[in-house]
Amino acid sequence: MRTVNLHSGTAVPALGQGTWHMGDDPARRDQELDALRAGVDLGMTLIDTAEMYGNGAAEQLVGEAVKGRRDEVFLVSKVLPSNADRRGTVQACRASLRRLDTDRIDLYLLHWRGSVPLTETVEALESLVREGSVGAWGVSNLDADDLDDLPTGAVPETDQVLYNLSRRGPEFDLLPRCREASVPLMAYSPVEQGRLLDHPALGAVASAHRVTPAQVALAWVLRHPDVVAIPKASSVAHVEENRAAAELALTVEDLALLDDAFPPPKRKRPLEIL
Ligand code: NDP
Repeated sequence: MRTVNLHSGTAVPALGQGTWHMGDDPARRDQELDALRAGVDLGMTLIDTAEMYGNGAAEQLVGEAVKGRRDEVFLVSKVLPSNADRRGTVQACRASLRRLDTDRIDLYLLHWRGSVPLTETVEALESLVREGSVGAWGVSNLDADDLDDLPTGAVPETDQVLYNLSRRGPEFDLLPRCREASVPLMAYSPVEQGRLLDHPALGAVASAHRVTPAQVALAWVLRHPDVVAIPKASSVAHVEENRAAAELALTVEDLALLDDAFPPPKRKRPLEIL
């Protein structure tokens, strides 16, 4: 699996696994555990979760999925903005560690910007790094001007944002801005939660390569050497399909066809959030 370097130089797989809405339904639990474990077996060892997902249920599921193989996995979790003051961040991290059944979150993100000053949150995140509960910190859903408000000298490992064929806004300013600072983007909802997959342009490219529209959507995000994609898949079949997308190279003609259907931004668009 190709890797992407986070800001500090830590290499993570370009293709990871999301977990939003996993762990919500006990009837689907075994299938979701199998899917996450299959993903790890296939090298999709970065798992993204958050205290918000199912009020902790997703973190519990992840903890169970990686039991006995914690060291193979790069765990990402997130603190809610409503918890992101000095004390709340530390408490939220401790609760996430308990649910994940581990003593370290590899990358801990501020989920989105709320009313707590970024300086206070970053101080709390850095204290967690110093004590070793967290390997490194980053942010999510911060637009270019939000990044300017981070304390001087504080550089996140990544900015996790909504980025896919139908959400190309970050290409205008956020991606170049992050690239300049050697901060890779982590693209969430890379297949637009499935809504992209019926698009005729995706279908045309997919047929030409004898692959699926989901694989084209993922390969398109992964065409950047410094963007990580974290699709959520709750079946082994989807996980295997997604893994194969990391090997799919789109041609100049494919990219032109997709640009026609999903034009790149010509001006600044505020960062979209799901
Ligand atoms: P995705 O774009 O990853 O789409 C997930 C949906 O696509 C699911 O319904 C899944 O179905 C389906 N799917 C996955 N693979 C395939 C495939 N090969 N063929 C057909 N359908 C497929 O959306 P998410 O919103 O889940 O985003 C991914 C992750 O990003 C989240 O799970 C979460 O970890 C993170 N995220 C972060 C946010 C933030 O604010 N920081 C916001 C939103 C997401 P099935 O489950 O049946 O396999």
